[in-house]
Amino acid sequence: MRKVLLSMAAVALLFTACNDDSKAINQEQEIDMSDFYVYTDGDDGSASKSANSKNKLKTCHTMNILNRQLNENPGLAKKMYDIEYQTRAFIAGKKGGNGNGNGGGGNGGGGEPTPDNLGIINIPVYVHVVYSNSNENISDQQIASQITVLNKDFRKTNNDITLVPSEFDAVVADSEITFSLAQTFRHSNSRASWGTNNDVKSTYPPVSPSTHLNIWVCNIGGGILGYAQFPGGSPSTDGVVISPQYFGTQGYVSAPFNGGRTATHEVGHYLNLRHIWGDGRCRQDDFVSDTPSSDRPNYGCPSYPTAHCRSNDMTMNYMDYVDDACMYMFSEGQKSRMRAIFASGGPRESMAP
Ligand SMILES: [Zn+2]
Repeated sequence: MRKVLLSMAAVALLFTACNDDSKAINQEQEIDMSDFYVYTDGDDGSASKSANSKNKLKTCHTMNILNRQLNENPGLAKKMYDIEYQTRAFIAGKKGGNGNGNGGGGNGGGGEPTPDNLGIINIPVYVHVVYSNSNENISDQQIASQITVLNKDFRKTNNDITLVPSEFDAVVADSEITFSLAQTFRHSNSRASWGTNNDVKSTYPPVSPSTHLNIWVCNIGGGILGYAQFPGGSPSTDGVVISPQYFGTQGYVSAPFNGGRTATHEVGHYLNLRHIWGDGRCRQDDFVSDTPSSDRPNYGCPSYPTAHCRSNDMTMNYMDYVDDACMYMFSEGQKSRMRAIFASGGPRESMAP
């Protein structure tokens, strides 16, 4: 986005002939912590919740939870700052280290990214099905259909990838991340809805979160589709929560979020991706340079082009809020950001091959 491009250009001017050490220091200077504090509580009123529920607008509570955790845990901001530092050093190193990178290629840069030597990263998945009725006790087939979608979306083998407009063709990414179901745990519980305060995780704690992605499938309530925790949070709440009717593509699923893309979106957060519009105005950043600036989420199925902030929104990105049928790509910049957390020193290093 624009701010990052400008600041990267400034770095290039100042440090054209610098070595790796000074480059790392520059990375530290680049981190604008104001972007970490994204106050979304205003969007959390009961009025908007019920409207969302009625209109079937996508509602993800990941940022609300991040804000709460940042308030409750003074050490978390520093931890996330360190992760951001490591991420940017990793991405800067990938660009070849001559200090004159073009900020990730901008829109349509199209350059082949430097391989990061991490290879294909497979993440084993534990699914915790927590149900109060037989519908919510989703079938093994429904769970399998979700794992299939994750593998297609993260490997760019989804059929609808062909719908990406030519403007964004050059930055469509195969993240080279795969998922395999390790085990399903089933828990009957009379509680009908679990809210967004991680209650389900304290009731049924994650299993081996340092090596496994934990997904809880339970009724969240309030029209909320899902929520995730960013890297850096407590291991005891690490993972993704999704309501059963938005999980997978068959069985107990509900249109227009019956394409398995709620999990793709939430796992994106789990792998350190922000919402594509940066949860703020045009200058608020998603920390990814090849996604256009926007000042709002898109809903439904927007026609192309849809423009905000003087550029066309990448409405078809998994990290927007559109219907499942209308999101079908990650960008190269998002790929780099996700893979950085598996690199040496990264918060999910223990998951890397
Ligand atoms: Zn989200």
